[in-house]
Amino acid sequence: MELSGSVPTADAPFAAEEFDSWWRDRREEIVGRLLDLIAIPTVSPDEERCYPWLGAQISALGGSWRVEPPPQALPEHPDFTLTEFSGRPRANLRARLPGPPGAPRLLLNVHVDVVPAKGFEGAFQPRFSEGRVVGRGAADTKNNIVMALAALEFLRDLGIAPAYDLQLDFVVEEEIGGSGTLASILNACTAEEVVVLEPTSLEIFHGHRGCLSFEVLVKGIAGHMGGGGGLSAIDGAVEAIEALKGLERRLSELARAEDLFGAEPPPTVVNVGSIDGGEWHGSFPDRCLLRANAGFLPPLEIAGVKELIEEAVGGLADPWGGRCEVTYSGIHNDAYAIDPRTPLVRRLLEAKRRQGLPEAEPAVWGASCDARYYARLAGLPVVVFGSGDLDHAHGVEERLEISQLAAGTRILADFLATPPGRGPS
Ligand SMILES: [Zn+2]
Repeated sequence: MELSGSVPTADAPFAAEEFDSWWRDRREEIVGRLLDLIAIPTVSPDEERCYPWLGAQISALGGSWRVEPPPQALPEHPDFTLTEFSGRPRANLRARLPGPPGAPRLLLNVHVDVVPAKGFEGAFQPRFSEGRVVGRGAADTKNNIVMALAALEFLRDLGIAPAYDLQLDFVVEEEIGGSGTLASILNACTAEEVVVLEPTSLEIFHGHRGCLSFEVLVKGIAGHMGGGGGLSAIDGAVEAIEALKGLERRLSELARAEDLFGAEPPPTVVNVGSIDGGEWHGSFPDRCLLRANAGFLPPLEIAGVKELIEEAVGGLADPWGGRCEVTYSGIHNDAYAIDPRTPLVRRLLEAKRRQGLPEAEPAVWGASCDARYYARLAGLPVVVFGSGDLDHAHGVEERLEISQLAAGTRILADFLATPPGRGPS
């Protein structure tokens, strides 16, 4: 993304020079902060390790915070995601920076967990060179924790009070299902609007796709390849994969009908991520297990996607009819989309425009995150926004361009400084 030369417009709450000179003075410190945070490995279930660091940052901003364990009833909630760490519940960190009397209540949600770093040498010994930070979480999404802190610090240093009564939820388990955010909503959600910070390359999304994990067990008949009675489950799996490709086309058609993406191809991928079956060259395997994810868009919901999956593999021609069993485990993230004309969406777009950054119409994000919970369970307007490129997340050499962190800080500071009533919405 080209950021140089973007100049705030005259109606911005602060001048370009004010931000630029502040950033020049603070850049090294802010980069250092990101390096420090990345160096605390917070792969689930070790998220809480970063709370002393985070708490100190909030305190320095004059905010209050507390560590908030999940409610007892969390595992009974239908949206709860069972993980290998579910027996060891971890807390979120909830912070508050009170606003002026009667200020609207805004929540910033950001996850503290990062994905594992197998094969990524130095993932937790981050480095900074040539304007970029490399390390696990540099893009997804410790950069956005640092961005939120920097935006608040900038406003404080300039003597500009945020226009909101601010709550910040730093949550666990986003990468493995979202039970941290679910816990925070069940504990209490008093916000009127929510911004979920994720690596969107500074785009503003008014929805995200859904994702459902499932398994297809294909049952064959064991036997010697020279005998007559066997049936290779792997042959059946090939048919099932073909059927899942058909499902992918179907999901894509349904998504196009909604046109939430404009010109972009809809991210309705059905990905078979693992195949497990068979033991020996000369034997018919009696079982083959496929593990897959299906990405989908509103108005489809999980129940509808399950029906489509079962229809696809249930309709295989003989001898495979009735030989496929579908189960569900792991990710079950519903999709969501709110009206792109919602004031929250427009105001964030306005902040981006005021900061002189290229505007695009709001779209639906091609990845899923915790934002759905706010829309679906709490009925709140929620958008997804942040620095960092999704293409650089989760992989080896995960990285962030510091120029993008600066631009994101500017947009967020502008948004937070501007009272909702101001300007066109
Ligand atoms: Zn993320």
